[in-house]
Amino acid sequence: MKHLFIVLSLFLPLALVGQNLEITYIANEGVLIANNNQKVLIDALFDDFYKQYSSPSEKVVTSMMASENPFEQVKVVLTTHMHRDHFEANITGEFLKEHQESRFLSSNQVRDELKAKYVDFSSIQGRVKAYVRGVHTLKDEINGVTVYSFFIYHAGGERTRSIENMGFIVEVGDKRVLHLGDSDMNPDRFKEVDLAKYEIDVALVPYWYMTSDAGIDIINNSIKAKQLIGIHYPKAPSKTALEQIEKNYPQAKVFQKAMETFISN
Ligand SMILES: [Zn+2]
Repeated sequence: MKHLFIVLSLFLPLALVGQNLEITYIANEGVLIANNNQKVLIDALFDDFYKQYSSPSEKVVTSMMASENPFEQVKVVLTTHMHRDHFEANITGEFLKEHQESRFLSSNQVRDELKAKYVDFSSIQGRVKAYVRGVHTLKDEINGVTVYSFFIYHAGGERTRSIENMGFIVEVGDKRVLHLGDSDMNPDRFKEVDLAKYEIDVALVPYWYMTSDAGIDIINNSIKAKQLIGIHYPKAPSKTALEQIEKNYPQAKVFQKAMETFISN
C-alpha cells in the first residue's frame, strides 16, 4: 500500500498538469485551444492580406505545417467565416493535407472557397464538414472533441449580410471555450442561442464587445463566462480601448502578442 501511495504521488502532479486548459494566441482571432491532448485550432490559417490586423508569421506557419510543438495532433480545425483575416484557402488546405489527423468544420461558404481555390481539395475532402446557414445550434463529436456550432450574423449590418459567420463552443477536457468569430452584437440572436446554458469557462470575444454597451449587455447577460479574452485587436494599438476594457473587466485579458498563452486550471 505504501508503494502504491508513492507511485500515485509521483504521477498525480503530471496528470494535473495535463488537465490545464491552454489557449495560445496565433494572430487576429486565431487561437490554438488545448487541454489534455485535445487540440482545436480556430481562425488561425491565413495570410497578411489585411494589413491592419496581425497574421501568422512565416515562422509560425512553418511550425504549424510541420506539426512542431504545440501544433502536433490538432484534432479539430474550425473557421468562423471566409474573411481573409480569418481564413485563406491554400494555407488551410495545406494544413489539412499535412495534418492527416485533423478534421475540419465550417460553413458551406468556406467549404466552397476551399474547394474552388485549393488544388488538392480531393485529398482532404473526406475530412471536411460544412453546414448550411440556419438557426439551430448543432452538435458534433469530432475526433473526441465536442463542438457546438451556430450561425450568427457578421458585424457590419447589410454590408456583410452575405457572410456566413459561425460561433463555436468547444469542449476540451472539462472546459468549454466560446469563439464568436466576428459576430454582430444583436441581443435577440444571442437570446435565441442562449449561451449561458453551456456554462462557458472562457469566452473569446472581439475586444470591442468589452467597450460597448451592447457588447457588455451580451457578455453579462447572455454569455456569462467565467473568463474573458479579447481578440481581433488591431496592429495599431488602441490605448483608450485597453483602458476601457481594464475598467469594465479588470480580470479580462486581450491577446496582442503572437504565441502568448492563457492557462487556466
Ligand atoms: Zn470578418
